[in-house]
Amino acid sequence: MSTHLIKPLVGQIYPMIDYGKGIYLYGMDGTRYIDGSSGAVTANIGHGVSEINDAMFRQAEKAAFVYRSHFTSEPAEKLAEKLAHSAPGDLNSVFFVNSGSEATETALKVAIQYYQEQGRREKIRILSRRTSYHGITLGSLSMSGHPLRRQRFEPLLEDFPAVAPPYCYQCPFKLSFPACGLKCADDLEEAILSIGSENIAAFIAEPVIGASGGAITPPDEYFPRIKEICERYDILFIADEVMTGMGRTGKMFAVNHWGIVPDMIATGKGMSAGYTPMAATIVSDRIMNVIENGTKVIMSGHTFSANPLSAAVCLAVMDYMDNNKLIENAEKQGRYLLSKLEMLKERFPIAGDVRGKGLLCGIELVKDNGTKEPFPLNDKVTETLITICFANGLIIYPAVAGVTGYSGDAVIIAPPLTITETQIDELFAILERSFEQLVQRLEQEGKL
Ligand code: PMP
Repeated sequence: MSTHLIKPLVGQIYPMIDYGKGIYLYGMDGTRYIDGSSGAVTANIGHGVSEINDAMFRQAEKAAFVYRSHFTSEPAEKLAEKLAHSAPGDLNSVFFVNSGSEATETALKVAIQYYQEQGRREKIRILSRRTSYHGITLGSLSMSGHPLRRQRFEPLLEDFPAVAPPYCYQCPFKLSFPACGLKCADDLEEAILSIGSENIAAFIAEPVIGASGGAITPPDEYFPRIKEICERYDILFIADEVMTGMGRTGKMFAVNHWGIVPDMIATGKGMSAGYTPMAATIVSDRIMNVIENGTKVIMSGHTFSANPLSAAVCLAVMDYMDNNKLIENAEKQGRYLLSKLEMLKERFPIAGDVRGKGLLCGIELVKDNGTKEPFPLNDKVTETLITICFANGLIIYPAVAGVTGYSGDAVIIAPPLTITETQIDELFAILERSFEQLVQRLEQEGKL
């Protein structure tokens, strides 16, 4: 009789976890894995940190749960204050939710509420990019340019992704930077003009594209231009920092790399570093002033929003990051990791593009990095690499949008922000061996 309560993905049997410590995870059979992707780019402070367990225990003894419409709590207030303080500009109000999908979905609703409060009833459309991922609920999936995840639900989804991504390696316009003049940013303006700014509430984008592309990093000039276009047409700019936020890219929020202030930031994942489900939408004073003069409250919320136990965990995570200077480490070790990954391109023609910021790195796999010819998706090259790495004791993360001609095969390497140079060497040695095995396998199967 099967004992699987959670059905594994087709063709995979998940090993049973025993425990984790630092960047390592240990299966029940004693196998050791390097968590080279922090799970789903989440376990930012590594596994088994006792300070977090202590904070969890202390708060559980006091009040594990109160309902958000009855009480607030000291940890929730402190966390909101700390997040607002860490966010740029006038992003001073924090709305707590439980997942990244809820954080982006809340941002969508707040954007619509903001214009509805002003009687601008037509401003309800959200623009997003054709290579993007903002979450799995129907609202957040509507904003996602991730064909594989959309396909079964297409009839229920809004057609929001309208704009080209800043995907220089396989430029949608077949141009190259800087001669292109940032045509991908102009594409936002063209979409606004054709749809009509009076119909658009917001534009949402990941500062570095994660799950649908593998750490696709824009030119430095891209986001300042995007912000300027949004302001010109009175459209809110939402930064989806669910993956990139909380120090992952070597700054608290990735938008800090370009000195821009969005109207809202969605954050999650690294906020709790996986120790509890927690996420947040950070909202600007500009928006909150309108809402406070109208309905007064954000018209959303969940039973577990601002849960004191989760808030205490997130506060302890943020303290741990400060005390151990993890954002600085992400910046430093990110540069080292990227320089190692660059070496793959010299040894393996299938290593197409190597990119990223801080400890959010990506490798795009192609048939030959001279021609950039993508593999047919049916060859399942990403899946094969991930399986080989797993068997060798290294966990990495797939980033496949699922349509040839979009972003093709890509993986994310994003270890915990605690990683040391020696541990990066250890990770890289396994990755290099796995690439050798991948090439052998693809040759045997006639795919190379
Ligand atoms: N936005 C981005 C940028 C993400 O990477 C993800 C998760 N991969 C989400 C939203 C959704 O977050 P969650 O899985 O916590 O709902």
